[in-house]
Amino acid sequence: MKMIALIAHDKKKSEMLEFVGHHKDLLKNFDLVATHTTGKLINDTFNLNVQTMMSGPMGGDQQIGALVATDKVDYVIFLRDPLTSQPHEPDINALLRLCDVHNIPLATNRKSAHILLEYAAKKLGEESVAKV
Ligand code: PGA
Repeated sequence: MKMIALIAHDKKKSEMLEFVGHHKDLLKNFDLVATHTTGKLINDTFNLNVQTMMSGPMGGDQQIGALVATDKVDYVIFLRDPLTSQPHEPDINALLRLCDVHNIPLATNRKSAHILLEYAAKKLGEESVAKV
């Protein structure tokens, strides 16, 4: 199964919940991993089995970065808050950088997340057709 990482800064968490709620059925076709608070919120709200890492400021972004660096994560959806400074800015930048190093599709706002997920679902469909 392809893996999608989900991360949302505090002011973007409600947007993430809306996004996941909208795409719930699609997201069931992927392994999901998230930073702690984001993942817990999603798990508490929807019946999705999101694996949780540490909270972003405590090292969760770095853990997801490690999954990107080891080719475990196929897509990253990171709803960043561009208007609030974050104490773990270096970790955030490191994660974004690793996505570029490893050529991992990264969406940092809701519209690009939507496009990314549509693409991921289309690829999934193509792969299952190819297997038949
Ligand atoms: P959180 O981490 O999901 O634990 O809130 C996200 C972040 O701030 O990077």
